[in-house]
Amino acid sequence: MATQQDAITRATFDDVILPIYAPAEFIPVKGKGSRVWDQQGKEYVDFAGGIAVTALGHCHPALVETLKTQGETLWHTSNVFTNEPALRLARKLIDATFAERVVFMNSGTEANETAFKLARFYASTRHSPYKTKIIAFHHAFHGRSLFTVSVGGQPKYSDGFGPKPADIIHVPFNDLHAVKAVMDDHTCAVVVEPIQGEGGVTAASPEFLKGLRELCDQHDALLVFDEVQCGMGRCGELFAYMHYGVTPDILTSAKALGGGFPISAMLTTHEIASVFHAGSHGSTYGGNPLACAVAGTAFDIINTPDVLSGVNEKRQLFVKHLQQIGEKFDLFSDIRGMGLLVGAELKAAYKGRARDFLYAAADAGVMVLNAGPDVMRFAPSLVIDEQDINEGMNRFAAAVAKVVNG
Ligand SMILES: *Cc1c(COP(=O)(O)O)cnc(C)c1O
Repeated sequence: MATQQDAITRATFDDVILPIYAPAEFIPVKGKGSRVWDQQGKEYVDFAGGIAVTALGHCHPALVETLKTQGETLWHTSNVFTNEPALRLARKLIDATFAERVVFMNSGTEANETAFKLARFYASTRHSPYKTKIIAFHHAFHGRSLFTVSVGGQPKYSDGFGPKPADIIHVPFNDLHAVKAVMDDHTCAVVVEPIQGEGGVTAASPEFLKGLRELCDQHDALLVFDEVQCGMGRCGELFAYMHYGVTPDILTSAKALGGGFPISAMLTTHEIASVFHAGSHGSTYGGNPLACAVAGTAFDIINTPDVLSGVNEKRQLFVKHLQQIGEKFDLFSDIRGMGLLVGAELKAAYKGRARDFLYAAADAGVMVLNAGPDVMRFAPSLVIDEQDINEGMNRFAAAVAKVVNG
């Protein structure tokens, strides 16, 4: 007799879930470290990391232990009460960064929504009700609420949902002149991903971020870094702003922050935070004890010299493999990104076919990502070992051979 589990297949998805995703044909059921198994027991090497989320791999023993312990202690209080795991995590983030105040949410979208609302509120409180302009960038991704898709620079995600929030301007990424041309005293914030993730794994140039900092200072605008994807160790530093030596006024973090448990954070200064008061903004779940406890343990592991320097060593191995695959199959025009956010752009002959390589990779037993139609993206666990990298890359090479040889 079929068990309940046997009755669940990929076909079930189309019967029960909103058609906003096109998930792979297999269903993962178990993970350990950088390996994942599907319903049929087939094993995969995980170079996708749940989209740069499972920064310590699957079922890391320390995270499991924390989740179990907190799960038997206290799950949820709401923000009518504060809780110890949230306060401890906030202290860790403040001790390790520019920030003096932190607020927890549940997703990158919510952290950015909070950041954008705070930037507008700060400008209208401290300066003028007309200081509302937000400058953002083409190909940027900041989340899926109406405000965050509107600040994001990919109209395909925001078209059809209007009317959109007003006074948001998009200019080309890494183009300081374009920013200068639209920057004025009505600008309340410049919002940027130090390394664009979804938009194609493109790192900002140091001059660009430094220039944005200067422009913001000249015009009393806030500099907001969306580090939802590139932060929390992924670039080889705790946050990308540390690599660039450019300090934002507001920073958002999510994805790797909880190592797989949903949580996000917005970090800022005391001065900026002080325009808000009880009731200005909020979330029922934000700062949930389970999420904050797990994130606290993930933070302690990620924010160590061992793990952070390991990221750069592992990157070298990734890049070496990708260069070899690129040369052998005449496949990549560029290998880029930072740390363990690696992008490989497909040459003209394979433009638009990133998904074909992704599906072939899964067939060959390795999970990879794309970032748009032309870029393969790799965002594995920050503690993935050499053997898993080599095995996953062998499988990826086999998948590439299949696609290329037709
Ligand atoms: C993933 C992502 C978001 C949105 O995060 P969600 O948790 O999906 O809401 C925002 N900004 C960046 C840079 C991201 O990569």
